[in-house]
Amino acid sequence: MSKTKSAFFCQSCGYETAKWAGKCPSCNEWNTFVEEVIVKGTDKKQDEWKNFNDKSKQKTIAINEVSSAEEKE
Ligand SMILES: [Zn+2]
Repeated sequence: MSKTKSAFFCQSCGYETAKWAGKCPSCNEWNTFVEEVIVKGTDKKQDEWKNFNDKSKQKTIAINEVSSAEEKE
């Protein structure tokens, strides 16, 4: 299975369509669509989000530990 797909973008107005069209339905320009490959980064995004959450948790715990230590002294 490929993780890439292509879509067509109007070079005049940026309209995106899955199928090539001779005439842009958005700006009514002809032959403005150019095929561009879209790389799906779903897996990478999920990893980055997980790492972000882990870092946030670690930071929160660290701050709490410092606060408790200061209160005890
Ligand atoms: Zn257009």
